[in-house]
Amino acid sequence: MPELPELQALAEGLNTALSGQKISTVRAHLPGALKSADPPAQELVGQKITKAWRRGKLIGIDTDHLSIVIHLMSAGRLGITDSQAARPPRNAIFDVGLADDRRLRLRELSSKHRATVHVLTPEALGTHGPLARLGPEPLGLAPEAWKAAISEPQARLHTALRAGRRVAGIGRCYADEIMWAAKLAPFTSTTRLDDEHWVRLAKAADIVLGQAIDRARERISIDLPNKEARVTAAHGHYGDPCLRCSTDLERVSYVSYELVYCPQCQTGGKVYADRRRSRFLR
Ligand SMILES: [Zn+2]
Repeated sequence: MPELPELQALAEGLNTALSGQKISTVRAHLPGALKSADPPAQELVGQKITKAWRRGKLIGIDTDHLSIVIHLMSAGRLGITDSQAARPPRNAIFDVGLADDRRLRLRELSSKHRATVHVLTPEALGTHGPLARLGPEPLGLAPEAWKAAISEPQARLHTALRAGRRVAGIGRCYADEIMWAAKLAPFTSTTRLDDEHWVRLAKAADIVLGQAIDRARERISIDLPNKEARVTAAHGHYGDPCLRCSTDLERVSYVSYELVYCPQCQTGGKVYADRRRSRFLR
């Protein structure tokens, strides 16, 4: 699932590639993905793209008079294609054709169809719920601002980090990475973190996300790959030795993903209950 670093690199690449381009066609292959009715998406035709941007996990494309806001969710992929095939691939859900014959295409790798597109006026953009409800961007956020953003209401740290309303753009992967880098326990209550913890969290987020953006810029410009090739220290490394202390990394398994942490550096020796482990012990 693309998170802040990948989407930031994509937005920068799209901004360079699309700025100044004129929109020649708009096609919703999966009409249900277009969640706005007024103004009609066809009003984009003839308009010039002025900017592409990211906020949280949302990608925006501004034109002279309107904005397109795209939420990729977990399986959406967005990129520029120069395919001239008469028929779009089956996973294409929304195309913006450009005057130079390329297209900005939203695809979805899952049949669950959760990716969404909104076409908004500047006024509607200002009050668009998914944008308006987002918490602050995490990069460069000061320790006190982290505390103000995510400590209340009380939650486990790993849950709070992934809640876009508290802080924007962080998902499962970078939540694991930031907690590992900050040496913080995933199940710690956000109301129990002290000043020193907030300092560690802010610093770790800047380092982890900053490095991830640099790496993402090397491999992502105008298209998101189907599979992510991320360099991670904890996420996806259950059972591997911790890069800091060599203790084997532990996990907590959920239905569709797992949280990975170091039981030495992060939880002071505590190993959390894991449903996969208990199944074996039964
Ligand atoms: Zn460790």
